[in-house]
Amino acid sequence: MWLVACGQADPPEAKPTPVAPTATASAAATTSAAAPSATAPAPPPLPEVDLADGGDTFEVIDLHVDTPWRVHFKDRPVALPKGDATPEKAREGHYAAMVFPIYIPDYIHKWKPAIADAEAIYTTIDEILKAQTSFTPVIVDGKVQAVDPDEVAIFVSIEGAGAFAADITQIDRFIARGVRLVGVVHAHDNDLASSATGKKAKKKGGGGLTDLGKQFCARVYEKGALVDVSHMSDQAFEDLIPIAKKYGAPIVATHSNARKLRNHPRNLPDAQLKVIGDTGGVAGLNLHRTFVRKGRVQMKHVVAMVDHMVKVAGIDAVAIGTDYDGGKPVPPVKDARKMPDLAKALREAGYSEADIRKIFGENARRILYWGLRPQ
Ligand SMILES: [Zn+2]
Repeated sequence: MWLVACGQADPPEAKPTPVAPTATASAAATTSAAAPSATAPAPPPLPEVDLADGGDTFEVIDLHVDTPWRVHFKDRPVALPKGDATPEKAREGHYAAMVFPIYIPDYIHKWKPAIADAEAIYTTIDEILKAQTSFTPVIVDGKVQAVDPDEVAIFVSIEGAGAFAADITQIDRFIARGVRLVGVVHAHDNDLASSATGKKAKKKGGGGLTDLGKQFCARVYEKGALVDVSHMSDQAFEDLIPIAKKYGAPIVATHSNARKLRNHPRNLPDAQLKVIGDTGGVAGLNLHRTFVRKGRVQMKHVVAMVDHMVKVAGIDAVAIGTDYDGGKPVPPVKDARKMPDLAKALREAGYSEADIRKIFGENARRILYWGLRPQ
C-alpha cells in the first residue's frame, strides 16, 4: 500500500489443488519436526476458469486486492457497485481466486490498532462474501471448501500486524480460521518490525524485526501460514531469512516489484528477489503505478517489470498482487478485466503459455496451500 502524506489518508497502498510442497519445504520438513509443510496440503479447491473465449489458457490468482478496506473504512457498499475487481470484472479477467487482506491501519485509535480491529475487518470480509454469492471463501473454519467453477475463490491475509504485539498468540485463531499470509508491518514501524517506509529504515541497520517480531514470524510459520514481506524494511527481510529457513518456508512478497527498475523502498532489491526465488517463494507484481514507474506507465513498462523480476527471481517466483482497490492502477491494466491484455503483451514479448500460467496463477497457488494440515 502506498504511503501518502500522513496517517489518516493512508490508503492500503496508495495501499490452489493440493500442491506438492516445494523442494525447499520438503527438504526442511525432514530436518525440522516443527515444519508444517511436512504434512500434505489439502485437495485442490480452486475453480476452473472458462477460457473458451479467445483461446487464452491462463487463470488469475491475485495475491492482494484491497476491497475489504474500501468497504470497512471507505463506506463502499457490500453490494460492490464499483471497484477494480468486482465479481463481474474478476470473471471477465479470468480470475480463479484472489486474496482479501485484513488491513489494519497503523493510525487508528491514535496509533493503537487493536486485535478487535482485525476481528471487525474479518467480519466485514464475511459480510462481503455473504453479499457476493460469486465470491466464495476457500477456507472456512480451517477447512478447505470446494469452489464452484462459476465463482471466484477468496483467500484471506493480514496486512499490518502491529496490533498482535499486545499478544502474539492471538494470531493463532486467525490462522486456524484460514488466514494464509501475514504481513507484519504496513506503512509505519510497529512493535514487531520496521517498515520499508518507516523512520527506522532510513537509519543505519534499519530496525529490522524486533525480538517479539521474530517470535511472531516463527509462530506464523509454526501455525502453518506464511509471512508476507511486502512493506517490510530491508533489514526486517534479512532478519526473516533464518526463521523462514528453519521452517522450510518460502519467502513471499504478495505485492512488491523490482527496485532496480523503480527505486522505491516498497520494491525489492535484486538480492531479495533472488532469495525469494531460492526459497521457492513468489513476488507478486504490483500494478499501483508509483511502484511501476515514475511518470506515464505504458504496457511495455509493466512487461519490463515482469521481465526483470523473472530474470532475477526465476519464472517460478513471479506472481500477481495487483493492489486493486488499494492503489492507483496503471492505465493499461486499470482493473481486473484487463488481465487478458497483460497476458497478450507477455505473449507478444515471448512468454510461452506455460510461463503465463505460472505467473498469473500457478506460482501463487503453490504458496497459498503451504502448511495446511491434512483434513
Ligand atoms: Zn500494501
